[in-house]
Amino acid sequence: MPELPEVETICRSLAPHITGKVLAGVEVHAPKLRRPLPTAAELRAVTGQRITALERRAKYLIWHLDGGGALIIHLGMSGQLCFHHGPHPAELHTHVIFHFQEGGQLHFRDPRRFGSLDLAAPGELAGLPMLCELGVEPLSSAFTAEYFRERLGATRRVVKTVIMDQRVVVGVGNIYANEALFQAGIHPLRPGQSLSPAEGEALQLAIICVLGKAVERGGTTLSDYRNADGEPGFFQLDLAVYGREVEPCPRCGGQIVRLRHEGRSSYLCEACQK
Ligand SMILES: [Zn+2]
Repeated sequence: MPELPEVETICRSLAPHITGKVLAGVEVHAPKLRRPLPTAAELRAVTGQRITALERRAKYLIWHLDGGGALIIHLGMSGQLCFHHGPHPAELHTHVIFHFQEGGQLHFRDPRRFGSLDLAAPGELAGLPMLCELGVEPLSSAFTAEYFRERLGATRRVVKTVIMDQRVVVGVGNIYANEALFQAGIHPLRPGQSLSPAEGEALQLAIICVLGKAVERGGTTLSDYRNADGEPGFFQLDLAVYGREVEPCPRCGGQIVRLRHEGRSSYLCEACQK
């Protein structure tokens, strides 16, 4: 599933292809993904509008339009956006094709159909529930040690659940949660409020470090992930614990174990993570 670094990478690779271009048409090949797609009439209303900027908020890609509205894409579990400079046939699972007046087309493929495409009318974007309930961006100045300590201190929920809670901090999915907890030396199942201020700060810095590094490396390549130019990411080379059950811990040489909690796998070193 694309997490924050992958969506950031897609946003950066897509921006030069579509920013400043005018939408010439949107071709829809499926009635719905996670929810129904905009209607033909709604899509006609944004045709002819120029994309003034591309922005990532959590795992949403927001296209700001010169009419004042916006187009919002979520890639779900398996969504891909691939830009083609010339005509390109719709492949299997291509559900939406965006055409641009200046040429080129962008294909939105999503084999598992958990993605979404929504339109926001002018002035409506900031108030959309899917956006306004989100927590802070982990790579922004709003994600301070103080903010994070407060949120940890207020809950008995396990620390891994807290860092994956999008209302606390956005974009920390399972892979990066495992990696950040390993880096900070914290056991994933400890209650949030049991962390000392120093541990809270270590974890806050680890989240920033792990996500920042993953963005730098172009994301982690899972089976379906590609950026807008069809290139895979390279962060999986750097994963210390995720997916490495029974392999040696890179820090102490002990064995990495896998625990199941709330339906997700946690990978950790029990000697290094207390
Ligand atoms: Zn270890």
